[in-house]
Amino acid sequence: MDVSEYLKFYSELGVSHLKLPDRPAKTEPPVQATVEASSAPSPDPPAVPSGSLEALREEIGDCRRCKLAPARTHLVFGSGNSKAELMFVGEAPGQDEDLQGLPFVGRAGQLLTKIIEAIELKRDDVYIANILKCRPPNNRPPEPDEIAACRGFVARQIEHIRPLIIVALGKFAAQTLLDVETPISRIRGKFFDHRGIPLIPTYHPSYLLRNPSAKREVWEDMKAVRERLKELGSSYYR
Ligand code: URA
Repeated sequence: MDVSEYLKFYSELGVSHLKLPDRPAKTEPPVQATVEASSAPSPDPPAVPSGSLEALREEIGDCRRCKLAPARTHLVFGSGNSKAELMFVGEAPGQDEDLQGLPFVGRAGQLLTKIIEAIELKRDDVYIANILKCRPPNNRPPEPDEIAACRGFVARQIEHIRPLIIVALGKFAAQTLLDVETPISRIRGKFFDHRGIPLIPTYHPSYLLRNPSAKREVWEDMKAVRERLKELGSSYYR
């Protein structure tokens, strides 16, 4: 483990004091970055890679396809580089996102920005979207009918962007995109196949706000992302 890299990451994430362990920290084995073939059929409806992201946004329109519509302020489609080589997928807009119409702009979003910057990228380099485009009341977990109504849109965003890597933020995005119910703690840090694109689940930034010690694992995951991007010839690191 490169201690100076950890310190840099922690300080970039806004952690000013680190409590050092009484005994030497256990050295973790490096994350095995392998693409596992998904045997389960993908649940997403066939994506039609025609038109642009803007056309897709227009098609979604003033969406009334599920029961979240009446209470929302803004539909949060997604934002960033439409040619991004790295894409992040979260769960659903929260209050700040609902008010601004943009993904990850609240406290969790600020932390996500620091996570992106920790691998020497800018927010504008990547694309950020959510599984649900509208805020569930009081940020409750998404419900099956809402997922069913909305999941095709993120599938089509992925088809349009065709990133080199997808990072699924948190249990909900990971389980939905991979169509599994495996706990996030068991799948994080490993690469899976999502329709031919390597997908790595990691902890959600909101979880990190509640459990700052999990930033260590997210840093391991982001280093694996950076290495895989380099292996795939990403223009980010040229
Ligand atoms: N949490 C999410 O999953 N998405 C957002 O856009 C904001 C918070």
